[in-house]
Amino acid sequence: MIRELFPDVFAVENEEGGSNVGIIVGKNSLLIVDSTLFPSKFQQILDFCATLTHKPLIGVFLTHYHPDHSFGVMGHAGIEKLTSEKTQKILENIPKEYLNDIKSRLGENGKELDRLEFRVLRRIEDGATVDLGMRKVRFMNLGGHTPDLTVAYVEDAGVLFASDLMVTTVHAEIVEDSDMNVWMKAIEQLSRLRIEYVVPGHGAVAEGKKTLNFTRDYLKLAACVIESLKNNKDMEYLDLPSEFQHLRFPELLVEGVVRKLR
Ligand SMILES: [Zn+2]
Repeated sequence: MIRELFPDVFAVENEEGGSNVGIIVGKNSLLIVDSTLFPSKFQQILDFCATLTHKPLIGVFLTHYHPDHSFGVMGHAGIEKLTSEKTQKILENIPKEYLNDIKSRLGENGKELDRLEFRVLRRIEDGATVDLGMRKVRFMNLGGHTPDLTVAYVEDAGVLFASDLMVTTVHAEIVEDSDMNVWMKAIEQLSRLRIEYVVPGHGAVAEGKKTLNFTRDYLKLAACVIESLKNNKDMEYLDLPSEFQHLRFPELLVEGVVRKLR
């Protein structure tokens, strides 16, 4: 579903729980935030943009290195890719085994990833802004979910493209390189901004303040479960508080906790 959150600021929500994409249109140009996993799917986003405006696309900003956010645009050689320094380093040095593992898990669809190119990424400094004409987008490298995670904030619209830092309707992905303390600090830092809407990496768009509070509570719960299990406290089952029971893909929480216990 495509939602216009503010004039010329769009969220493309993936209803299956796949990654979301942002489209930000200024007076002179447009910027896309994240690019899904498949080049063919990303092409659909480009086709939609062409129906919106003929203004030039200045690039696609990638919030972090995870394939479901970054790989789609890597199959489109002519498009500028913008990333933080950390994301740039990871993507430009992506190990062959990592790529092959993803391809093999995708079966026949994995063939699409044969022609990806991980080069010529343009670096965006932490705190920098990109001016699209009467509309600026600010980038903040906050880490947490992964060390390179960088959010995109459209100040005039009060829209935050928070990527996998925020939880609305889908459980968080806690991965090997997630840092729960940094993650919580990131939420505190973001709570100082005026945010009308949060576009999470997965799940539905939601109201700003509510989402910040919800994510803070969620992370506290996850950190508490991890700590309890680390200290060998008995926990035969996790009684998920009612406020989190509507979240989709509960296996993500279990997998995340297990990863942090290794
Ligand atoms: Zn991610």
